[in-house]
Amino acid sequence: MIDSHSHTFYSKHAIGTVDELVRASIKAGVKILTITDHAPFAVDANNRLLVCELDRYFADIERAQKAYQGEITILRGLEFDYMPNSDTYNRALLAQYELDFVIGSIHYVEVPGEPMVKVWELPRLAAQAFLDRYFADLQALLESGLFDAVGHADTLLRGVDADVVQRRFEPLLPLFARNGVAYELNASGIRKSSLDAGSGREVHGVWSYPSLSLLPQLIEHQATFTVGSDTHDPRDAGAGIGEMLATLKPLGLQTISYYERRRRIDVPVNTLLCSVPATDGLT
Ligand SMILES: [Zn+2]
Ligand SMILES: [Zn+2]
Repeated sequence: MIDSHSHTFYSKHAIGTVDELVRASIKAGVKILTITDHAPFAVDANNRLLVCELDRYFADIERAQKAYQGEITILRGLEFDYMPNSDTYNRALLAQYELDFVIGSIHYVEVPGEPMVKVWELPRLAAQAFLDRYFADLQALLESGLFDAVGHADTLLRGVDADVVQRRFEPLLPLFARNGVAYELNASGIRKSSLDAGSGREVHGVWSYPSLSLLPQLIEHQATFTVGSDTHDPRDAGAGIGEMLATLKPLGLQTISYYERRRRIDVPVNTLLCSVPATDGLT
């Protein structure tokens, strides 16, 4: 199994050391793990790596690479925040570190005349003004030339109707292949809450994202795909990835990619679905 999106305590709102995440991932059957803690960023800086922690973060990863060699491949990643004015800052940070994989994600959206929207503020996501900004930002992210993949682009499905998201996405479908940015299939949508359209209440146990209806269209537009658990706790290592791939394969998903030294490596989904099941409960 491949997991290309994972967090440790370095992200502050996540728990577990690099070593604990790696051990849990091995147990969950992950063979290729990319650790992608939140890169330092001025907005919500206390929920991100600090610049002064980066060397320690990469040293922890290097130590784990050596300690678990032969058991699991561990890759160096970061999840960057994308905002319209963040390119210069992100480019400078990227120039300083050799990474295997770089995710660009939208977590914060500036809507004129309103307090900044966070993408987990579910009741705010369906507003036209927010959606206008979000999709403008997403287009700019795809065209920025900075990122290998966009993280959880469809997380809006937690609070917005699928057909609204679908319509907004249509003009962006060709941009993934054109700009060489992979679309992340993020399994955290399987365990995160979403808004029930009828009651307006948050409910659990509903598959909100990744979008099942966008996938065939993305495939048609030659998009490539990465997969990630987006775990923020070693107990969620690799969570949902097997289930997600088994669900998406009949929709036409044939290939998953991961990145080493920023170069894309494609793996047939079939080989992932045939891998040895997790050893959880056997030990
Ligand atoms: Zn996070
Ligand atoms: Zn994220």
